[in-house]
Amino acid sequence: MLVDSHCHLNYEGLAERQAEVLENARSRGVTAMLNISTRESEWDDIVSTAERESDVWASIGIHPHEADAHPDIDTAKLLARADHPRVIGIGETGLDYYYDHSDRTRQQTSFRAHIAAARETGLPLIVHTRDAEEDTAAILADEMEKGAFPALIHCFTASAGFAAKVLDMGLYVSISGIVTFKNARELQDVTKDLPVDRLLVETDAPFLAPVPHRGKTGEPAFVADTAQFLAKLRGEEYMQFCEVTSSNFYTLFSKAAP
Ligand SMILES: [Zn+2]
Ligand SMILES: [Zn+2]
Repeated sequence: MLVDSHCHLNYEGLAERQAEVLENARSRGVTAMLNISTRESEWDDIVSTAERESDVWASIGIHPHEADAHPDIDTAKLLARADHPRVIGIGETGLDYYYDHSDRTRQQTSFRAHIAAARETGLPLIVHTRDAEEDTAAILADEMEKGAFPALIHCFTASAGFAAKVLDMGLYVSISGIVTFKNARELQDVTKDLPVDRLLVETDAPFLAPVPHRGKTGEPAFVADTAQFLAKLRGEEYMQFCEVTSSNFYTLFSKAAP
């Protein structure tokens, strides 16, 4: 049992060979995948894939890069789509100050609208954060005070200090193939110490193919390589590690039936 907690099956490189991509994942023991929304125009497709494939789940949300392109996104719009039985998460949302593809204030407004939807539905918030640790932690803390909500930092690459802050707020952390990269020494050190009961694994496919697939189009099957690397890094047994991280996925995304 192994779960890819974050992938983009509708993106170029995967969409045109989706059947093969799903088969590859299943043959490496991947029993569930969470297909993540980044734009409103994807929502229908993401939901219909999840309706068709029993091991693919859907999220509803707007990526921080897309905040400018969705000025009218609000909590009601998210809630209307999150009601579907195959939609198990809200996002991806958050802050990306590395690319700054959208205005920072717009990113923050969108982030808070997603948080309200997560709080209202009880569905986990899928948080993307890059070069924005301080504001991400501040908004999460501020919103937690208004009422708790389940959440996850996806593609975690941040500092030990940020990890401590979000773990303290009850968040989960998902590790991508970046951890397998040669230059990821610092991330490896932080990841080694993360509590095993808050850990998830993801590909963020088609991006970030892990070692030994670097340079290729990422796909959910490669979550097995990242999980193998992580188990070794942390001195845990591979099957045991897969079982615990999958069970964490179902604890957090409790709307998904195992
Ligand atoms: Zn992301
Ligand atoms: Zn993503």
